[in-house]
Amino acid sequence: MTISSVFRKELSESEIGKTINYCYQCGTCTGICPAARFTRTFNPRKIVENALLGFKEKILDDPVLWNCTTCHSCLEVCPQSVLVSEIMFELRNLSVERGHLPEVFRAEGEGFYNNALNIPSSPAIARRRKQLGLDENITRPNVEDFKKICELTGFVEYIKKKEEPASQEVANE
Ligand code: SF4
Ligand code: SF4
Repeated sequence: MTISSVFRKELSESEIGKTINYCYQCGTCTGICPAARFTRTFNPRKIVENALLGFKEKILDDPVLWNCTTCHSCLEVCPQSVLVSEIMFELRNLSVERGHLPEVFRAEGEGFYNNALNIPSSPAIARRRKQLGLDENITRPNVEDFKKICELTGFVEYIKKKEEPASQEVANE
């Protein structure tokens, strides 16, 4: 298994990531976590421990990272004020940089890019809006402008990024 001291250093240098250093492995985050109750393979305490140990590949290449529901319960109960759920975001971002965006999110991202709306309008949505006394027609943003923003911010690059070959890893970097 690759141990990356650079990974741990980078993570603990960010404003959010540095809170990981206060973790004393009590497991309170795992105890409150709804995703951990759903599947024993997802364990926020263990993810934090692996991050502290520098197990970069083990964390970033494991799709279980995406089981977090981002409910923020762990963040609220942590006695050490570790920003666990926010750290999950950072780890997911790093995972996406390695090309591990799950297909369901990739498809959602592509739909967003192509329509400038996360949920394109439908007759059912128009009917519901009418029932609620809202304008049935949702104003469409300018899709071309939106696409340009996606391209300039690098969003498109991420949704199209493919997995990095494992051979590119450098042991004990
Ligand atoms: S609750 Fe906080 S201190 Fe306890 S294991 Fe989780 S992150 Fe670490
Ligand atoms: S934010 Fe994620 S890790 Fe934290 S309690 Fe919720 S599901 Fe679990």
